[in-house]
Amino acid sequence: MGCMDKPCPERDAGFFCSCFYLELSSIIMLDIQKLEVGPLDACCYIVSLKCSDAMIIDPGGDTETIVGYLEENKLRPVILVNTHGHGDHIGANKELKEKFPDIQICIHTDDAEMLEDPFKNLSLLGGKRYSSPPACRTLSHDEKIKLNGYEFRVLHLPGHTPGGIGIYTDSTDNGEAPILFSGDTLFAGGYGRTDLPGGSHNHLLKSIKECIFKLDENTVIYPGHGSSTTVKAEKERFK
Ligand SMILES: [Zn+2]
Ligand SMILES: [Zn+2]
Repeated sequence: MGCMDKPCPERDAGFFCSCFYLELSSIIMLDIQKLEVGPLDACCYIVSLKCSDAMIIDPGGDTETIVGYLEENKLRPVILVNTHGHGDHIGANKELKEKFPDIQICIHTDDAEMLEDPFKNLSLLGGKRYSSPPACRTLSHDEKIKLNGYEFRVLHLPGHTPGGIGIYTDSTDNGEAPILFSGDTLFAGGYGRTDLPGGSHNHLLKSIKECIFKLDENTVIYPGHGSSTTVKAEKERFK
């Protein structure tokens, strides 16, 4: 329930009360927190509004750091999205699901089988044995994910894995640039490897050129590793 749904004597008397301003600020500020987690420093992003429901993208490890951030900021994690099924992006799925049983684990249909299988998610290569609970929801291209009134669109970006996805929104209607979480498809100054099982160099280039590069040039890209970039900057590099 939002603050504006609660009874408030100040507001009822015609004054702008403190909870009105709190509610107003939570409407307009999309917060993106990056936490570098796990042995490969995967970028885990926590997307939220202030004191609200939160979406966790790619919790690759360091559950305590993730939970600490959520608790400190009074966030309720409701959606967990894995941009793909590799171990460095799903390592904390199990512990987070145990801690927050209602959280919805989402992954593209074509990577769903990697979640539970440490061979397929390649965690065994790194000496770990990650087995995530199964997906609560499998995603496909163009599907919508809703969070606090924002709408995120799933972009299927095969190439690094068969079911790699990007998560995009341009519903930042207060003048902010659109946002893309690109997983391991595209980084600042590079792109994901394609020599792992299920990888395809041709598919990856097609995902980048025919999907990501067709987005608004001002789109800010938050990749699965390293620093953020923009569609415009990466297009320049590809020339
Ligand atoms: Zn990967
Ligand atoms: Zn990765």
